Amino acid sequence: MLVMSDMAIIDVMKTGSTLVSPAVPDRGARKSSIAYTGLFQRRSKRIEVPVKAFFVAVAGHRILIDTGWSSECATRPREHLGFSLWFASEPVMAVGESVDHQLRQLDIEPKDLSAVLMTHLDCDHASGLHLVKDAPAIYVAREELDDKNIKSVRYNEDFWKDIDFTFYNMEQDNNAPFWKSCDLFGDGTVMVYFTPSHSAGSVAIEVNDGGRFALFTGDNAYNRHSWEDIALPGPIYNKDNMRTALEWVQKESRKEGCAGVYAAHDPEIKPGLYEF
Ligand SMILES: [Zn+2]
Repeated sequence: MLVMSDMAIIDVMKTGSTLVSPAVPDRGARKSSIAYTGLFQRRSKRIEVPVKAFFVAVAGHRILIDTGWSSECATRPREHLGFSLWFASEPVMAVGESVDHQLRQLDIEPKDLSAVLMTHLDCDHASGLHLVKDAPAIYVAREELDDKNIKSVRYNEDFWKDIDFTFYNMEQDNNAPFWKSCDLFGDGTVMVYFTPSHSAGSVAIEVNDGGRFALFTGDNAYNRHSWEDIALPGPIYNKDNMRTALEWVQKESRKEGCAGVYAAHDPEIKPGLYEF
């Protein structure tokens, strides 16, 4: 098993990548407001962005943030995702890149995790859920599973048909960007912030250790350009909230204690082990 140090450890796991319209990370890249769906665009114009999940060990807790692509995206992507999701975000993946496989390289089985934390349930974050269903708890925001959110074409409920989710216990927090946060273990090490921006139940996660912290944005931000320049992505649930979320990420990124901003699709953060 992974040797636990006094430092917080982050393993950045790249579970393949996805071919998307340039308007997915930055809606300013195309004129049309639906450009991010890839409709009416040549597929040769797509860009490849990494799809990441993050293992974090802090103060004896072991968490997995998102699950990335399922291993089935390496073998039968169209059948696994369904045509429309496959069309909008075509996976590129090799066998062996899925989270269960990468956790095993750290000598960790899903049941050894403290919890899996979902930032939201888009396919590139949730299609691997079945691979870690033996984790003791799998968290999601209550709002993400609201019928009016989850019944849209954006989601595929098959990904969590065998999953018994636990909801984040959100409480009033005047310092949170949307006034709600969850102190997951009650010791301040893992703070989950409600951010209804990219989807109705999106969250961002801060991992704190010894006065320093790492911020996991989910799809609140795609890359440095998103938060440095407040560049709105293509898929958005609420535009004003998206802007608020990006301004909050920018503010956090500039704090002295910030050890890194980890966005799920940021090519700048390379796979591998980090400590802070
Ligand atoms: Zn995503």
